[in-house]
Amino acid sequence: MSGWFDLGDVAVVPVVETPRLLIDPEEFFPERPGVPSGWAAEEPWYEPGQGRLVFAMQAFLVVTPDERILVDACVGDGKRRARPEFDRLDSGWWQRFTATGLAADDVSTVVLSHLHVDHVGWATRWSDGRWTPAFAKARHVLTAPEYEYWRSAAGAAAMTRTGDYLADSIEPVADAGLLDLTPPDAELGPHVRLCPAPGHTPGNTAVLVTGSRARLLLTGDILHHPLQLMEPDVSTRYCVDPGLSARTRRRTLEWLADTGTAMLPAHFAAPSAGRVTPHGSGFAFAPAADLHRPGRYVPSGGPHAGQGSDD
Ligand SMILES: [Zn+2]
Repeated sequence: MSGWFDLGDVAVVPVVETPRLLIDPEEFFPERPGVPSGWAAEEPWYEPGQGRLVFAMQAFLVVTPDERILVDACVGDGKRRARPEFDRLDSGWWQRFTATGLAADDVSTVVLSHLHVDHVGWATRWSDGRWTPAFAKARHVLTAPEYEYWRSAAGAAAMTRTGDYLADSIEPVADAGLLDLTPPDAELGPHVRLCPAPGHTPGNTAVLVTGSRARLLLTGDILHHPLQLMEPDVSTRYCVDPGLSARTRRRTLEWLADTGTAMLPAHFAAPSAGRVTPHGSGFAFAPAADLHRPGRYVPSGGPHAGQGSDD
């Protein structure tokens, strides 16, 4: 565990699947290949020896006084995937999830920010010879436009590159009656609401988490790498609508800067969370050290309720 984020009466706990996935800039940002500029070209964001960008793969557990919410579900272990780094992964994520002290049935809600392959995997696990919902007591929140896109001809065409990963990760959840299709701005409870973020995918969403002493915007895939803070107009090869993705990114970063709200992007390497300020034509980034707590999160009710410990 690389620590957690303390919002007062709400905790946000990263559950990391892969801490350092290295990807060629040419693959991810074909319109902006090469070395990122400035601090984004340094560790932990960039691996200078190999000339590759560093991405983290992680989910976030949001622990409120009433609910245990998992935001996104990574790649998943043991699944057949087209991308070699994802194929039949053996990450140990499930052990890291249970090491938080929570069991699968404690999770009340799973939020799927969007339906890309690296955000849905742990929605199901292999059991009794088939893929079954991993969080069988949870409603699985997904925006209606996102679900409809992936069921359309355009969504099916987009999956020709990757293979149909929704068949093993989302259809079993739908078949079990656990999918809850919501508007893109749905209130999920007193501490958590969705924020529409279309572009990367049509129904992509961010998740705003509000605690008694701070707010944190889980920005999902609104941005993937810090080079997009310096150059917010740069979208990825995997953005369904690159222009809309760029407008959503800039609008979100401007709101974060105006309000001083910290953000926690899905793929930023640890410690991942930070605040942005306008800088040149883009934004600067400062880690949210005031919210970060080192060590292991212990859920309330445990011997060190709400406190981190180093064991
Ligand atoms: Zn992603």
